[in-house]
Amino acid sequence: MIVVMKVGSPETEVTRVCEDLKGWGLTPEKIVGKHKVVIGLVGETAALDPFQIQEISPWIESVLRVEQPFKRASREYRHGESSEVVVQTPNGPVVFGEHHPVVLVAGPCSVENEEMIVETARRVKAAGAQLLRGGAYKPRTSPYAFQGHGESALGLLAAARSATGLGIVTEVMDAADLDRLAEVADIIQIGARNMQNFSLLKKVGAQDKPVLLKRGMAATIEDWLMAAEYVLAAGNPNVILCERGIRTFDRQYSRNTLDLAAVPVLRTLTHLPIMVDPSHGTGLAEYVPAMALASVAAGADSLMIEVHPNPKKALSDGPQSLTPERFDSLVPEIAVVGRAVGRWPERQPVLT
Ligand code: PEP
Ligand code: MN
Repeated sequence: MIVVMKVGSPETEVTRVCEDLKGWGLTPEKIVGKHKVVIGLVGETAALDPFQIQEISPWIESVLRVEQPFKRASREYRHGESSEVVVQTPNGPVVFGEHHPVVLVAGPCSVENEEMIVETARRVKAAGAQLLRGGAYKPRTSPYAFQGHGESALGLLAAARSATGLGIVTEVMDAADLDRLAEVADIIQIGARNMQNFSLLKKVGAQDKPVLLKRGMAATIEDWLMAAEYVLAAGNPNVILCERGIRTFDRQYSRNTLDLAAVPVLRTLTHLPIMVDPSHGTGLAEYVPAMALASVAAGADSLMIEVHPNPKKALSDGPQSLTPERFDSLVPEIAVVGRAVGRWPERQPVLT
């Protein structure tokens, strides 16, 4: 349920309404939007009478029920306004959100050694990326495949961060690694395979770093938003959703089916920022550029693209990784689409 306060409601009145609602045994959450203040109420609200709540203050404009099962993640919960996730990187704040330029996240699937991660970071930064991705802990289908260098790779990500000032996105698989990982990561990734690892979701929800929640490979949009709800309900409001392709009947010519329709669908359902990962979404480098452009055209707030200095030698996901040269030429192509949809700042590289 949400309580919408009238424009210009005095702060003291909003506080009084919140206190009053606490007296009803509810846990009010004050959400300050661009135009209005909304008070979110989650919990046993079924028996509440909206008209009775309306009586609390003449400054209450309306009291509405959130019909969706995902409450805090729903667009209604913020009264239609989209949220922003601000990531503090050494190069300055990077903002993910509907009303901001497209954010580029790029880097290898796995951190392999210091030279490759620092060099890749330099290259993707020069091309226009704001954040570096790279896995230290890798969720691999086979236990015999490269599992990531683990904790030592976190140190290498820290080195790349200080060499370039890029923010770091890296995946947590085990809650036991979370504290150490959060010292290095500017965004903590929950991979597709852990999207419904509810105890892990509660743990990342109970810490402060923004969370990148990838869509499970067989997850419906509702499953995915309910997973986001776990993180939000645990107290972390900074969640970015990442579409990375789902399993369908056809895996002959591409690794996954990239569900680009999810972008406008999510936009109507949720206020959370939306990222697309065309690398895992297609599984093949030659298809990544087309889907990157399509993602921006569809309204994505961010792209995550795998880039490796030598894809043929990559320890994981080489076939879907772009070379730094291809990433260099892709960014100006993305800029063309980004400008067309009003999502590209002039200061980023553009086609001449
Ligand atoms: C990754 O980002 O390298 C990864 C393993 O992604 P996903 O969880 O989407 O498969
Ligand atoms: Mn990968």
